[in-house]
Amino acid sequence: MASPKRSSPRERPSRSSSDITLNPVAAAAIERGHPWLWRQGIVRGGQGLTEGAIVRLRDVSGSLLGEGLWDPSSPIAARVFTRGAGERLDVDLIAKRIERAILRRDAFIDEDSTDAYRLCNGEGDKVPGFVMDRYGETAVVRLDGSFLRGMLAPIAERIFPSLKSRNIQSVVRRLARDEAPKSGDSKIELLLGPPPKDTVTVRENGVRMIVDLARGQKTGAFLDQRDNRARVRRFAEGKRVLNLFSYAGGFSTAAALGGASHVTSVDIAHAAHATAQATMRANGVDPSAHAFVTADAFTFLESAEKRGDRWDLVISDPPSFAPSEKARSRALTAYRRLHAACAKVLSTDGIFCAASCSSHISPETFLGTLDDASLGRSDLSLLALHGPGLDHPIVPAFPEGRYLKFAVLR
Ligand code: SAH
Repeated sequence: MASPKRSSPRERPSRSSSDITLNPVAAAAIERGHPWLWRQGIVRGGQGLTEGAIVRLRDVSGSLLGEGLWDPSSPIAARVFTRGAGERLDVDLIAKRIERAILRRDAFIDEDSTDAYRLCNGEGDKVPGFVMDRYGETAVVRLDGSFLRGMLAPIAERIFPSLKSRNIQSVVRRLARDEAPKSGDSKIELLLGPPPKDTVTVRENGVRMIVDLARGQKTGAFLDQRDNRARVRRFAEGKRVLNLFSYAGGFSTAAALGGASHVTSVDIAHAAHATAQATMRANGVDPSAHAFVTADAFTFLESAEKRGDRWDLVISDPPSFAPSEKARSRALTAYRRLHAACAKVLSTDGIFCAASCSSHISPETFLGTLDDASLGRSDLSLLALHGPGLDHPIVPAFPEGRYLKFAVLR
């Protein structure tokens, strides 16, 4: 009789079909800790495997490198979960990894002031493809690709008690692009607990933030900028502030609360300003004392420069200009153009915060778009180059995970 611990054959396909041999370059990357096996790194194996199948990765000599989950529809053929032969990849292992990630946050998230943060950061928490964010009483899961979809229900069941003990009552999944609901429809699917409200108010360092769970960007908000919003708050006292690509007004509200004399928020999406204004109001800031401009940031900067408008603090946090490696060179040109235009409206002695969320632009390359030649002025120094907060850990061997750059120049 099979022991009760043994998984079903569907969960553990037979060794012959699931043994993948890697070329030496791919094998070395996996040994360093890179969590992705690119399809071109495969020497043999993988034919006929279905989505989410457990695969055993071997080097050319046959040694076991680890186990991963197969993805037939992506250039990333497998996401690697275990190393060597010591661990067994199944629902239990993934659930334990997520619980460890949740526990890690207890060490540095002050729940009295912050209830919106990343509970599990995918690759950085050794759960490739699985991101989970907390928004108050709701956990929002976002899967990269579809290889984990089949395992999600049992994983969610397993971690639910840990979530509930932190007063998280519902788990939802953010739908992927290929499941795109009609525009305007909710983009979330309920997994466990009562259905959350479409829009919730959460706290970040004591600041209220209105988040559109059903239709907002990412999992609802850009939680990766939390520490940087706190920095902006500290810089803002008495300053005229320009926040470009302002979305739901996170940086704008932080600046206003930090004592900015005036904040101008610019976003191409008119609807974003309504959320930004509501967020200001929720924090006791009168939005009518500030400006909200619906415009393309480049066009706005050009007219502002001509008008002679200047700001003491300029924040630029655009959407990814380089969504792919191919778009890289065009993206660098766009960052240069944007940064030069920002430098023109930045007052003497002003502070410039320039962000990039593209993983295809390395920190070093990004700084190259902020040098004197790019900015057209030579009075600015780099004070700091920040990334996301501690709830967004990364793996050193995985440069793709170091996507967020936040440069502070003065
Ligand atoms: N800074 C925000 C996140 C920015 S997301 C935060 O901390 O929450 C990027 C925003 O840029 C989106 O709201 C999008 O509507 C806006 N956007 C995209 N292209 C733009 C453009 N050309 N000009 C101005 N805004 C733009």
